[in-house]
Amino acid sequence: MSEAPEERWKAIPDGPGYECSWDGHFRSLDRVTSSGRSVKGQPIATTTSKDNYVLLKYWNAEGKRVSRQAHRVMLETFDKPCPPGMQSRHYDDNPQNNRWRPGTEAESRKQGGNLFYGNGRQQHRDKVRNNGGPLPVSPPAHDCINHAQCGGKTRNEGKRCVPCVEQVGRDAGAMLRDGENLMKVAQHFGYKGTDWVFTLAAKHGGYRGSKDEALIQRRKWSQRVTKAVRGRLRRRDARSRPGPSLASAKGGEAGTAPFGRPSHQDSLGHIGHGKSQDVTQREPPQRPEPSRVVTRSSRPHVPYPSDTVRYRAPRKPGVTRHR
Ligand SMILES: [Zn+2]
Repeated sequence: MSEAPEERWKAIPDGPGYECSWDGHFRSLDRVTSSGRSVKGQPIATTTSKDNYVLLKYWNAEGKRVSRQAHRVMLETFDKPCPPGMQSRHYDDNPQNNRWRPGTEAESRKQGGNLFYGNGRQQHRDKVRNNGGPLPVSPPAHDCINHAQCGGKTRNEGKRCVPCVEQVGRDAGAMLRDGENLMKVAQHFGYKGTDWVFTLAAKHGGYRGSKDEALIQRRKWSQRVTKAVRGRLRRRDARSRPGPSLASAKGGEAGTAPFGRPSHQDSLGHIGHGKSQDVTQREPPQRPEPSRVVTRSSRPHVPYPSDTVRYRAPRKPGVTRHR
């Protein structure tokens, strides 16, 4: 290890009275307390978190005791606050190697620097490099939240499979083109944020508007009226049209009464002749089938153990209970 003859220190922006060094060491400076006592500065001991990161505790500018990951503090001190959308990376993926060196990534690497900001892609590239090849991929083992309809599998629990995600994109694109507000579209599909559903609508749903437009747009008066009328018609249709179970209960055979009404011809044995055949051929007007993508909010409620299991205190030894 080629240590610089003198360690370079810099004040931690968020921790007045503290410094950190290029090699990932921390110290407090000499100070005078509010009561006038002078305190000597000393090295700050670090600890290791469960996931093997170096942790550091200090009093921040607001007078709060904070525990933070050392590499983040160092990048903030020597580089800058983490830019939005970026992550702090350990180049060698060793969370204990907190060394920082100035310059570009290549220059820093030459001097043994290991800490950089980067995006998710760079983070992934680090992992592939340190793994010595592509990362092992676990097979999708969980059911899609829409599994009953699509039968799809996902890699992570509580997610949608790829075909369902694409369907969400198509539906979301259609809703946005219809003038629906992006926030409402996101809520409809159970997303807290709007970024992902907007991305899907643009990619799979062919939505070409900007995100800002989508966020402020509202259905026009005429579109709202159309929607309300369509909804009412659909409900009325559903009410006036008995389901197939009702038709069979009345004695009509499957296929003889496509509208659910047992026809006169049925009982006279004219099935398949003349006009009645036309009736069987005729199909109800085709309406685009509503998407069967399950929204997250419609997932069945799975009771927590506390809902179903009653806790019973263990019986004390020596105490007999009379029933
Ligand atoms: Zn699915």
